[in-house]
This record gives sequence, structure tokens and C-alpha cells, in this order.
Amino acid sequence: MSGSSQPLRIVIVGGVAGGATAAARARRANAQAEIILLEKGPAVSFANCGLPYHLGGEITERKKLLVATPELFDKRFQVDVRTTSEVIAIDRAARTVTVVNLQTQATYQLHYDRLILATGSEPLRPDFWTSGVRNVFQLWNLNDLDAVLAMMRERQPQTAAVIGAGFIGLEVVEQLHRLGIDVSLIERNPHVLKPLDADMAAPIAEEIKKQGVQLYLNAGVEKMITAGDRAVALQLQDGRRVESDIVIVGIGVRPRVELAHAAGLAIGKQGGVTVNAWMQTSDPLIYAVGDMTELPHGVLESPQRIPLAGSANRGGRIAGTHAATGQAANMGVVLGTSIVRVFNLVAASTGINEQTCQSAGFDYRTAIIQAADHATYYPNAHEMILKILYAPDSGRLLGAQIVGESGVDKRIDILATTLHFRGTIHDLAQLDLAYAPPFGAAKDPVNMIAFVAQNDLAEHPTLLPAAAALAGWQVVDVRTAAETQALPLAGAKHIPIDELSLRWQELDPSQPTVVVCHSGKRAHIGACWLSGHGFAKVRNLTGGMSMRRHALSH
Ligand code: FAD
Repeated sequence: MSGSSQPLRIVIVGGVAGGATAAARARRANAQAEIILLEKGPAVSFANCGLPYHLGGEITERKKLLVATPELFDKRFQVDVRTTSEVIAIDRAARTVTVVNLQTQATYQLHYDRLILATGSEPLRPDFWTSGVRNVFQLWNLNDLDAVLAMMRERQPQTAAVIGAGFIGLEVVEQLHRLGIDVSLIERNPHVLKPLDADMAAPIAEEIKKQGVQLYLNAGVEKMITAGDRAVALQLQDGRRVESDIVIVGIGVRPRVELAHAAGLAIGKQGGVTVNAWMQTSDPLIYAVGDMTELPHGVLESPQRIPLAGSANRGGRIAGTHAATGQAANMGVVLGTSIVRVFNLVAASTGINEQTCQSAGFDYRTAIIQAADHATYYPNAHEMILKILYAPDSGRLLGAQIVGESGVDKRIDILATTLHFRGTIHDLAQLDLAYAPPFGAAKDPVNMIAFVAQNDLAEHPTLLPAAAALAGWQVVDVRTAAETQALPLAGAKHIPIDELSLRWQELDPSQPTVVVCHSGKRAHIGACWLSGHGFAKVRNLTGGMSMRRHALSH
């Protein structure tokens, strides 16, 4: 492959998710190749996704985070791992990289036949972060984790502020709270977890507050108030002040593409390195994988930068195989499928949300249901909220979001799989899924939401968005008296569902009519009844009052 008697030399830059996977896979694919893995940090193949859980003590031993050591790479894979080795330049013409040994500062050139870049991304550092303060951190690698833990041992913080309510921020909040620390969470956006729509994020915000965490939404940090080498509080743009003994910043990441950029490799519109289906950059001898790349999105079609571990590992496998053998399967698409636990709730999403549909100009409809994770007559059933977005013409699934206590992981993966195969709500309705009372329902929640969406498209009857303005509609509230008292719906005509077949003549069939209940289930029955009795235009408020409350809460 190298065109000489020398073995093919594969050099990999970055030794964690994508890089370590590429190294191991390249060895399995090519027993003769020389494989060199360069990592600027002190460790390779550590579990960055596990960092928050060691912080809070849920993962008790730090060494469990070291998934594979340089010694293991050496013994098992004959991979030459060089830690504290930073690559500072690529010379494409000479096919060399310049490496700095960060311990000795010695610099050397290393020839490559194939080069795999897996330099990941870098956490954003906000302008308000005063340099020199010792109690403000990011949680990105083992050094960060060790620094936070050392500070916590030394100062025993009683209060903490976490800036950024993304995945890492929420995981850190949960873990600091677990340690008995009084936590504040500050988020600039109007809701937590950007991949979720506001209505689906609202139950997560409620859970955070229920646990005693102070949640600041729509809250930009203006400045850090310091005393000596410590931040003591954060000044918010609206004038509020959040006192804190320790601050963790998790406001997002940017791809580390400086090396690739300086080497003249093509960079895409999203700021990630452009790659083909085998992870080759614009220079076919150089591959790029993981957070630093942008990859074709399964719904948007265009390349997107989605910094998640799954695609980094898949990309590493493909680049490792292709670099070692000259052929490999295709990378395929990304969907941004993700999941996070937030105290007693789990939030997950795949595909695109309403905001992305709107900015991408997609015509879409939504369905929302509440369903139990398994048969309700079997003990410990928990409700989850499912939301799907689909195309009105074809019924093609565009995205899905779920919030619940259990069974969320299984459903989001079913929905992601359907998305991967460009499936429709009709495919979802047909899925033949495993069922026994402890595990699911004979009509699984993903079947159920597809039935709702099919009804919607078949106008049997059509759904109205949970937050829709109800002026001009004849609103029929089919909940019980106790439910309407607990959460009133102004202007609605109250006819409990079990009285509707006797009292529907009290309504005006010529008026556009929307039927409302708690979740949309009884409203569907009511709406079918009214449609069947000649009402001109009948709608069901999707997700019912429980989702309307969330949708209007922000
Ligand atoms: P990384 O795994 O970040 O590896 C890049 C490596 O390259 C780094 O070690 C860096 O030191 C090295 N490097 C950079 N430049 C150079 C250079 N010039 N020379 C030598 N070495 C260099 N994703 C999920 O899907 N689920 C989760 O639950 C999840 N949780 C996370 C929690 C935390 C705290 C963090 C930090 C990330 C989490 N992620 C999660 C994201 C996931 O870890 C990343 O998407 C994934 O690690 C990206 O892989 P990568 O190979 O592109 O980069």
C-alpha cells in the first residue's frame, strides 16, 4: 500500500474517542502496518462521557475512566502511543507532521503514509471568564476533572454555579447536587437542552427546580465578581447576582480544526472539516473523524457538525479501516440522537426539532402523547411524553423527542432507527415490537404516537398544536370536573367525555370546534364523536392541557 517495502505507516492525531477507535480498528484490519497514535494529553482512550459521574462519586474509581491505556495499546495492538505529544503542523507535500514532546519541548518530524486527524473539539471560553481565577472550571478532560476534584477537596464548596444547560451542564448539576452542594444553573436561552422544543424542555426545568436547584433561564452572565484569585459571584445581565464557591462553565464547543485549516484541508459551512463517506478529507491521504468534522445529516441532508461520541467512534472505525486497507463501508448519516438523565427524568431526542424545521423551511406537523413505559396494570409503570415531527405530505418522520422516567432510551432508539431508514409514521405504526407486561404495551408508545399522527393526516380528526390560540374556536373540555378545577381552561364548554354522547347537542355544529382533555386521548374520542355527528371542522388539541401548560409556560 505504501508503494515501498516499508510497512504502511498510519499516524493518528488525537487519542480519545475517534482516534483510539481508529488505531485499534486499523490494527485489526492490517496486521503489518506501523501505527502511531499521538495525543497531547496525558491519557488516551479515556471516558470523557463518564467525567461528570466520577465528579459526583457515582463512578467511584477514577481508573475506571481509563478505558484503554498506552500499555494495552502497545501489548494488544502493537500501536505506538505517544502521550503528551502535540502535533503542531502538517506538511502535505512532504507527508510529515511536526510533533512537540510537551515534556521535553523537543520537536521532531514524523512521516506518514496515511494520516488520521481526531483532534475533537474545544469548550468555548466566555468573555466574562476573568483569567487567573482558581475556582472556575470547564469539564472536558481528565486534567479538568482532577482540578475540580482537588479544589472541592481543598475548599469544600457549599454553593456552585453551572453556566449552560446543555448535556454536560445538566449532568454536572445533578452530580454536584448529589454531593449536597447548593447548585444554581444559569442558561442564556429561554429553555434548557437546546435539541428539545420548549414544550418538551419544560418538564425537565420543573424537575430541576423540584430538586431545589435554582434555575435561571433567559439569563446571560455579564461578569464574574472576584475577590483575589476567586470568583465569588456571577452578575447576570438582568442585574441579579448568583453567589457561588465554584463555577463550572459548559456553554458549548467549537471544532479543533486549526491544524487541518493550516494544512489547506477543506472546511465546511458549519466550521468542521469536510469528509467523504470514508472520512477522507479533501486530501485523500488524510482522514478526519469525530467532533472536528461535519457529516451528512439524515434529515437535513446537508453536512452538520454534531459533537457526539457515537459518530466519533463510527467515524474512527471507518477511517481506521480505510486507511489500513483502502476500502471500508460508508459512514452514512448522523441524526444527533442523544439522551441525558436529569435527576428522576430522562430526556432524549433524534432528528430535527421545530426550530430547525422552521429555519430549514420544512413543512411539518407534530403529535404529542403521554404513554406508560409498560402495561399500566403491571407494577411501576411510568408515563413518558413523546413528541414526533413529520412531513404532512408523505408522513416521513423528521424528528422525535421524549421525556420520561424509564423506557425512554428504547423508544428514542426505535425512532432513530426509523429516521435512519427514512421511515414514515406509517412504518412506525407497523413496527412489530416485543411485548410482555413488564417491558412494554401491546400498542407500544411508538406505535401509539404513529396512530395519532396517522389520524392527524387522515383528518380523523386533525391535531391542533398544544400552544394554539383558541380564540374563534368552540372549545370543548372533556375532562372531569376535578381536572378542570385543578387546571382551568378559560372560555371552554365543559362536557365530561362520558356525558358527550348525551349532551353534544348543546354545541353548535357549524362552529370550528376543538376538543381538549388532559393528554389528547379522551379528546380524540370526543372529536371523533363530534365529527361523526356532522360537526363541520373538528380538531384535537395535541398533548392536551398538560402540554398546553408546558407550551405556554415560557
Ligand atoms: P475527543 O474524544 O475529544 O479526542 C480528541 C483528542 O485529541 C483530545 O484528547 C485532545 O487532547 C487531542 N488533540 C487535540 N489536538 C491535538 C494535537 N494537535 N495533537 C495531539 N493531540 C491532540 N457524547 C455522547 O454522545 N454522549 C455523552 O454522554 C457525552 N458526554 C460527554 C461528557 C463530557 C464531560 C464530555 C467532555 C463530552 C461528552 N460527550 C458525550 C461528547 C463526546 O465525548 C465527544 O463527542 C467525543 O469524545 C468526540 O470524539 P473525538 O475523537 O472527536 O474527540
